[in-house]
Amino acid sequence: MSVYCPNCQQKARITSRNNLNEGKTVADLYCQCLNTKACGATFVSTLGFKHYLNPPANSTAQLAANLLNKLTKEERAALLSGVSD
Ligand SMILES: [Zn+2]
Repeated sequence: MSVYCPNCQQKARITSRNNLNEGKTVADLYCQCLNTKACGATFVSTLGFKHYLNPPANSTAQLAANLLNKLTKEERAALLSGVSD
């Protein structure tokens, strides 16, 4: 992941990270501009999780299991007879 300096738009290095929540989805990134001769600024950027593009595999399986448990034995058998591997 690249971070860019807000002053000179050159690449910066992340020197440390401070997680702001238990899930580690939001963090302050302490950064140092690598354009040391002309800039060399240090700054804090915020990193935040936005949304999934694909759900995690375990949550997909859990969702399917929860739905299957709502069906009767007959409904489940009918549904699974149409499932291919
Ligand atoms: Zn800079």
